[in-house]
Amino acid sequence: MTNSTEQTPEERLNRLLVDTPITDTHNDFPYVVRIQLHNEIQGPDFDFHKLNTHTDINKLKKGRLGLQFFSCYIEVKSNDPYYQDFNLTSTVVRDTLEQIDVTKRLMQEYSEDFEFVNSSKEALSAYRTNKKIAVTLGVEGMHQVDTSLAVIRQYYDLGVRYITLTHNCDNPFATAASSVTGGLPDKGLSEYGVRGVLEMNRIGMMVDLSHVSYKTMLDVLDVTKAPVIFSHSSAYALTPHERNVRDDVLLRVKENRGVVQVNFFPAFITQTKEEDANGRSIATIDDAVDHIFHVASVAGWECVGFGSDFDGIQYVPEGLEDVTKYPDLIYKCMARGATDEQIQGLIGGNLLRVWNANEEVSKQMKLAKTPVVEKEWDGRKWTFSSYSKGLGNLYPGADQTETYKSNEWVAETGNPFGLKK
Ligand SMILES: [Zn+2]
Repeated sequence: MTNSTEQTPEERLNRLLVDTPITDTHNDFPYVVRIQLHNEIQGPDFDFHKLNTHTDINKLKKGRLGLQFFSCYIEVKSNDPYYQDFNLTSTVVRDTLEQIDVTKRLMQEYSEDFEFVNSSKEALSAYRTNKKIAVTLGVEGMHQVDTSLAVIRQYYDLGVRYITLTHNCDNPFATAASSVTGGLPDKGLSEYGVRGVLEMNRIGMMVDLSHVSYKTMLDVLDVTKAPVIFSHSSAYALTPHERNVRDDVLLRVKENRGVVQVNFFPAFITQTKEEDANGRSIATIDDAVDHIFHVASVAGWECVGFGSDFDGIQYVPEGLEDVTKYPDLIYKCMARGATDEQIQGLIGGNLLRVWNANEEVSKQMKLAKTPVVEKEWDGRKWTFSSYSKGLGNLYPGADQTETYKSNEWVAETGNPFGLKK
């Protein structure tokens, strides 16, 4: 590949975009649709072409985006602020399914511009051949699988291609960066978390280490069989936020051949202590470029990309206001000396390589007949109503139920099965 000086930045970008889609691994647009429209997208006022959010179709086209991972984020909804009781009942799986549903409906409704894809190969053909914006999904935290490996497998079948191991809370799999900031111990990846990572490797679900604690990052890098992603994280050496990636971890990512997709949120990339009148961190597009170059200088240009966090953040860096700005960011990287090959990896080549490597690892593990990881979390309470105790035994000793509760328990929970007391 040449690094021609005769060409303008626009000409260079045009040439690189023939093969490589500009890729972003973290955009929270579906969450805005949830909170403001309760996922009703057919009303007369909603036109995805033109909205006031960071993301709409006209802006995506101007920003020349080719592959988008939309986040199916649902918050931790618990009276237990640190989510310590993992057996509490939760609506998080229902809510996540609703986010998968609304994103797929959006893609169908606006299929002139989008194509929902299931593999790295499909993403490339949607972009190169069908001239569409390829779209796939990420789930932001294992709290969204409600401690169940079966849910991870079903999310994969529905088209989710990465899961972040934590959001801003611990879960039975792993420790979150926010817990460490809040003064809780960094317990890293649990034994169940190891099983979860290996099961994700087996099915081809990318393991996302954004939001996790430092020890979780290292623990996962010790056990994963596939390259990891950081779907929206920046460099700790420049902005020492617990959510960012330290240099020793970047070196491990280099070995792992994973990728760190730089987050644009001002608080994660600012290098000054200055704040605006509202007490918000001040950052510019140049700070994002600094973070990209830092990740590249430590982990290598093969391990860096974009994970904007657009529509999941309330304020933005100057010069990186919305999804129209990807070309500006790329021109800045060119101006600072990045070669065509480096730019190609940065804008999407690296992420596509990692996605494809995860698919290959899954294929190999399945060829080797690696069994499904069936064993669920050891702390899970298996409780049933007393009527089920009378059902036939599969074989002697088959009953693993811990507690059969009396029918009063059924009455207490609103008698959901209509059973007579
Ligand atoms: Zn996030």
